[in-house]
Amino acid sequence: MEAPPKRLKNSRQRDLILCILRSTHCHPTADWIYQKARKEMPNISLGTVYRNLNLLREEGKINEISFGRGGNHYDADLRNHYHVRCIECGCIEDVLQLTPEASSERIEQITGYRIHNHRLEFMGICPRCQENSKNASI
Ligand SMILES: [Zn+2]
Ligand SMILES: [Zn+2]
Repeated sequence: MEAPPKRLKNSRQRDLILCILRSTHCHPTADWIYQKARKEMPNISLGTVYRNLNLLREEGKINEISFGRGGNHYDADLRNHYHVRCIECGCIEDVLQLTPEASSERIEQITGYRIHNHRLEFMGICPRCQENSKNASI
């Protein structure tokens, strides 16, 4: 029996990775996606996951978020949005109440600049970690 064409195998891997990423809001790392993907395709390698994530990013199907230190995180939510990261547990969540468009507009009004792009990251302690430290100190 002939092996399936390589192109088909590649697109199945890419579909699986995209599907995993679309099924979560946790903004995972490549390693997290790899652990999930292995359960469906035991032969997949971490290198393949990285390669497909890069391809998906180039195709504009996912976004890559880098929060300074640590590996990159990935997001299948393509809305232009800010993120907030917990400095205790490292979780990353979406901030959808304040839009980058509104921020740019405000800065244009204040400075007279035509804003093309900006970066803004929020860091703090998430509600779960606040709760844990409260319990720990009792
Ligand atoms: Zn936390
Ligand atoms: Zn996001």
